[in-house]
Amino acid sequence: MTLNVLSMPKVELHTHIDCSLDFETVVRLQSGMTFQDYCEAFIAPEKCTDLTQFLACIDPALVLLQTKMALQISVDGMIRQLTADNVIYAEIRFAPHLHTRNGLRPEEVVEIVLSQMFESSKREGIYCRLILCTLRHFKAEQSFDVVDLVARYQTQGVVALDLAADEANFPLDEHIGAFRRANTLGLNTIAHAGEARGAGSVQETLDKLSVSRIGHGVRCVEDPRVLERVVNDGIHLEVCPSCNVQTDIFSQLKDHSLNQLKDAGVTLSLNTDARTTTNLSLTQEYERVQEALGWTEQDLLNSSHSALGASFAPDDIKLSVRQKLATFAKEVAG
Ligand SMILES: [Zn+2]
Repeated sequence: MTLNVLSMPKVELHTHIDCSLDFETVVRLQSGMTFQDYCEAFIAPEKCTDLTQFLACIDPALVLLQTKMALQISVDGMIRQLTADNVIYAEIRFAPHLHTRNGLRPEEVVEIVLSQMFESSKREGIYCRLILCTLRHFKAEQSFDVVDLVARYQTQGVVALDLAADEANFPLDEHIGAFRRANTLGLNTIAHAGEARGAGSVQETLDKLSVSRIGHGVRCVEDPRVLERVVNDGIHLEVCPSCNVQTDIFSQLKDHSLNQLKDAGVTLSLNTDARTTTNLSLTQEYERVQEALGWTEQDLLNSSHSALGASFAPDDIKLSVRQKLATFAKEVAG
């Protein structure tokens, strides 16, 4: 089976809106911006010293994304990028509280993003759902606020709560109560972990937050007991290999733990995480993993199937996406 990776239909679970402003989007938000200025301001260095330096590179996007129009333009731009990548189902994410500097209320922010997400994805013929993030440096009160937003908009396109940002410098303590409430309410929960910190952080996150998916989690291989737990509990890892190299979790792609995870039987998927900050499409990520880690086309298709299985899509969308993946596989085989 030989195929063009671009033409492969894809499912993506882990990609941040504020890390995915392409040049076309930024020019619409800030006229006069040159491509060179854009690259310098919005794309993080290929090798950051750590996750903290990488996260600082998101600030220019956040400066822009404080109005209704800017949020609409950025979400529309992101859906265009997903479509160009042949992503047919995506869960996109962001932290509503980071977009309130000019007076928008968090619920207004969520409504603007949901409305644009559905308008653009309908136009493009793809499916999208929204994940709301609380952040490591937030106080408990803000995390509870995000849980309330997830609960309030769960029938309108919001599918999960996520914990993101600086894993190395902020503990889980402030967020345990909020995740407990989310889990009690039956909401889906995810957390970034096992990226800037090791297997212990993955274990702690599973113990204290009871999530069903982990953003990254790639350092669980550092402790065989934690790796075994991830496999046995069916915890899906949203793996973002190039981003991990950029934040210096691994020195180069060929050193990534991806194959160790795959061989151990972890359910996992490939994702971009940060389309602009990492300067990456999902198609490029697939090609890099093929080249550096020897993934076959079947492995890549399996990534989308695993992602779909771990997704929070409604059953009718899961069925439709599964059929599209199967049709593609059949065409290629035929
Ligand atoms: Zn992320």
